[in-house]
Amino acid sequence: MTKTEHQETTLITGSTKHDYEVKTGAVNVPIYASSTFDQQSFDSFGPFDYSRSGNPTRDALEKTIAQLESGTRGFAFASGIGAISAALLTLSAGDHIVVTNEVYGGTYRLVTTILPRFGITHSFADFTDVDAIENAIRPETKVLYAETPANPLLSITDLNAVIALAKKYDVKTFVDNTFMTPLYQKPLDLGADVVLHSATKFLGGHSEVIAGLAVTKDETLGNAIYTIQNGLGGMLSPHDSFSIIQGIKTLSARMELSSKNALKIAQFLQQQDDVLDVYYPGLPSHPGYKTHQAQCTSAGAVLSFKLPDRAFTKAFVEAMQVPIFAVSLGGVESILSYPATMSHAAIPQAEREKRGITDGLLRLSVGLENVSDLIADLSQALEVASSVYTK
Ligand SMILES: *Cc1c(COP(=O)(O)O)cnc(C)c1O
Repeated sequence: MTKTEHQETTLITGSTKHDYEVKTGAVNVPIYASSTFDQQSFDSFGPFDYSRSGNPTRDALEKTIAQLESGTRGFAFASGIGAISAALLTLSAGDHIVVTNEVYGGTYRLVTTILPRFGITHSFADFTDVDAIENAIRPETKVLYAETPANPLLSITDLNAVIALAKKYDVKTFVDNTFMTPLYQKPLDLGADVVLHSATKFLGGHSEVIAGLAVTKDETLGNAIYTIQNGLGGMLSPHDSFSIIQGIKTLSARMELSSKNALKIAQFLQQQDDVLDVYYPGLPSHPGYKTHQAQCTSAGAVLSFKLPDRAFTKAFVEAMQVPIFAVSLGGVESILSYPATMSHAAIPQAEREKRGITDGLLRLSVGLENVSDLIADLSQALEVASSVYTK
């Protein structure tokens, strides 16, 4: 990459300019569907020997994400949770992590039910409150685990403040950057140690593949994650690596349109009587607005909003025509989700409600449909729900 190259260019050139492409000039990285590689010499092996350890298609994706996140090493896994668990398994028995309260449901399950069996303990803290994080740090703490904007209330963590705190206590900062992607937020540039992605979401962008990515800058940490990737075997297949590479190429066009439309939708929802609250970091009324503006270049394509209760929400969802009603986010299609029983089903109800994930909360990942059609759809569904709803 030349020093002056922009992110939008790297999205394309990241995978199109690798050495092994020079031979044919193929503009798309070939899917190297090969588990093993013929070695030309008896005593000096080529760059690839076995596809669990390394595969040229996966390598092109890993180099691309490393470049996009300003890291030195990228790692592709069979899922976002695969990437997150690999990063956390660089820890050892006796280590402790401080995790954001508003953490992805699958990460919650990992840190509360699986890691403790291996002696890796955790505390949750409100990551919008730096004092609360500091209070949760113990002598054995090794990692502060952040997610911003967080899911599903789009809370904002001040990354500079958390990273400064981590450095003060000599612990590492891991950041789940799924919602922003490297286009809009670059945690490693701010001093974070590991950036994690569910590439299933915006990076892939077409709801066709489950994939995860981890990126590091530090060589030792990079080697530690590589050891887990190769040693536990959760790496991404060449076919799925190819899909994510293709998705990354259109990321800026998709994100730009979806984010622009998300703002319009958030503004529309804010004006509706039956919408009790709108959570979107692009609205000046959002408590994290200023912090988000300072560390990101867009508010992204995901927003949440609160309807009166479960009955209203059910009628509303059943009346919606355009978005799919499903788990996941970041696709070309708009995706409406019900966090209480979908993304956050792994969190017990009492705990869930304490975190603001109530029975009237919906999350909308804005896709590439015409925004007037989406707004008209929301508008008619609100009307239907309010007419069937009796207070
Ligand atoms: C979906 C998601 C994950 C988990 O990724 P998978 O690809 O589903 O394993 C992690 N973090 C966030 C923020 C997510 O949205």
